[in-house]
Amino acid sequence: MIYKTIQNEKVPTFGLGTWLLNGQECTDGVAHALDIGYRHIDTAQGYDNEAEVGAGLEHSNVARDDIFLTTKLKPSNFHRDAVLRTTDESLRKLGTDYVDLMLLHWPNPSVPLEETLTALRELQDQGRVRHIGVSNFPPSMVSEAQQYATIFSNQVEYHPYLTQDKLREQAQQDDYLLTAYSPIARGQVFGDDTLKEIGAKYGKNEVQVTLRWLVQQDNVAAIPKAASAEHREANAAVAEFELSDDEMARIHALNRDERLIDPADGPDWER
Ligand code: NAP
Repeated sequence: MIYKTIQNEKVPTFGLGTWLLNGQECTDGVAHALDIGYRHIDTAQGYDNEAEVGAGLEHSNVARDDIFLTTKLKPSNFHRDAVLRTTDESLRKLGTDYVDLMLLHWPNPSVPLEETLTALRELQDQGRVRHIGVSNFPPSMVSEAQQYATIFSNQVEYHPYLTQDKLREQAQQDDYLLTAYSPIARGQVFGDDTLKEIGAKYGKNEVQVTLRWLVQQDNVAAIPKAASAEHREANAAVAEFELSDDEMARIHALNRDERLIDPADGPDWER
């Protein structure tokens, strides 16, 4: 697996996303991913699958300490009481004493960042949340969050058609992990001629080239979701090859600022 050092800690930067993975498929998928080498698992209160993810951790043959486990607070749980209460619930469902990373899933302008992050710092002091992070935060909001807590990660949509240059620069400057969600553009990278051509040289497909491109960048992690064992295995091939600087640049040039996840009440992304 691929590790990077972020804030002096070695972090596995290739993981399994679990949005829309539920029930037995989720439990089996998480256990399988861990058993074939994944060491980073991403869930959220909002995915309604923390218990199944927890069962997957338990059924795998990998020790808890070797796994980087992320969950996310629902924006409706950002007031202090709800942060404390629902983090406990998440830990209980996940069957663990701590999460490696707790993210604020989306900005919620109706609750001061200071309140939510101060509550999370209490949990951090107790060892129940190892790191604090955010998700779907534009650069200026990351800076604001950094006033109240050490931000370990910002998780955002990031793929060859949305290359997030400003956030990548900020992540490198401030040494946080930029975690790419929807890293294969929810399947849309399939059929891309540039990715296909680059992959042909290595015997890899468009998805594998895209994932390699992400994890080969400083401070970047990728968490593709794959319900099928075949896809999980194919995606883990990121560790098997390396792209040249020229190929990395060609993939960056595919950017067209295309956002697949952009709710009406979402943030001003340029902020
Ligand atoms: P994604 O990972 O870009 O794409 C998932 C889709 O690609 C699934 O339909 C999957 O099919 C397919 N796929 C995976 N590997 C493949 C392969 N090797 N060949 C062909 N198809 C393949 O999209 P995503 O689920 O939106 O994002 C990934 C994760 O990011 C989520 O699961 C979640 O954990 C996180 N996320 C976070 C946020 C946020 O607001 N923070 C938002 C969106 C996503 P199968 O499932 O059928 O295998």
